[in-house]
Amino acid sequence: MSIPKTQFGYGYDKRYKTIQKFDDIPIPSVGANELLLKVEAAGLCLSDPHTLIGGPIELKPPLKTSDKFIMGHEIAGSVCKLGSELSKQQDSKFKIGSRFALQINFCCGDCEMCRKGLDGACTTTSQCYGLNEDGGFQQYLLVKNLRTLLPIPDNVSFEDAAVCTDSVLTPFHAIQKVKHKIQPTSKILVQGCGGLGLNAIQILKNYNCHLVATDLKPDIKSTALKYGANEFYNDLSKSNHEPQSFDIIFDFVGIQPTVDISNKYLKKRGTLSMIGLGKFKLVMPNYLFALREIEVFYNFGGNSIEQIECMKWISKGLIKPDVTIVDFKKLPQALEDLVNDKVRGRVVFRPNKL
Ligand SMILES: [Zn+2]
Ligand SMILES: [Zn+2]
Repeated sequence: MSIPKTQFGYGYDKRYKTIQKFDDIPIPSVGANELLLKVEAAGLCLSDPHTLIGGPIELKPPLKTSDKFIMGHEIAGSVCKLGSELSKQQDSKFKIGSRFALQINFCCGDCEMCRKGLDGACTTTSQCYGLNEDGGFQQYLLVKNLRTLLPIPDNVSFEDAAVCTDSVLTPFHAIQKVKHKIQPTSKILVQGCGGLGLNAIQILKNYNCHLVATDLKPDIKSTALKYGANEFYNDLSKSNHEPQSFDIIFDFVGIQPTVDISNKYLKKRGTLSMIGLGKFKLVMPNYLFALREIEVFYNFGGNSIEQIECMKWISKGLIKPDVTIVDFKKLPQALEDLVNDKVRGRVVFRPNKL
């Protein structure tokens, strides 16, 4: 396999609020226990514009957040070069051509959270591909932390595996936390049918509950119903659903109006699962939630064992992420479309198919 000497990519530069194109980036040399991943698919996420405007996730000292890095945190690829030590190992899972999806956050494997299997909440390291370290919006990515490489089942595409790392994993993780509360008679509301909300509907469909979905965009109705929602509304107050009639509400928006809707429609001892990060701060109705003993869960990303499980669900056909492949060179335009709410499902680039 011939690997070029330089490549181009898109990323963060502290001086600007828009994504920058970086040309003639040298392909990194591979250390003894490292490998080079050919990026086969990289997904675009709303966290990308958030990073450009709000800045990257701060690295824990002594590491210093770089002023410039390649973005893209939903990454899948194939191994194209092994470090000298890795290439000596006969029975290694790391072979040229092996297919992997990356766990976004680097984890140590040794802290209390990692040892509990909650490695998405590792307390030792704060490094994340594409969010404060080089990510997937380039052709070749140096992988130093081999723990982040999760094997892709043979019948799962690179595109599906890439979006699995975040837009499937995040709702999957949130649902795993409350799944013991879901029964066939449960009435569940999904607020927000963007990439994550639509994947949540597909996952929840497998729990055989009654699913109601809402979104302000009328054109998303047919997709939400196709993916398994039993009902769809732009405005729940125009439906027949009574206040305080839902068992669980998933909020994929995270703005004050969606919190207020959850307050209106959750029944006594109901469950609110917050995923959307629309607003930095929200007013939770303290007294009203207390009276009804509402249980509130907050979520961020997920764990590697859940990511592996998500890929199995895709492999078995239980979920099929909604992926749109866009020309890598049109990345800045796709980012603008995402910000302007013109994107449906998940945009994925293939940086090596130009
Ligand atoms: Zn993301
Ligand atoms: Zn850890």
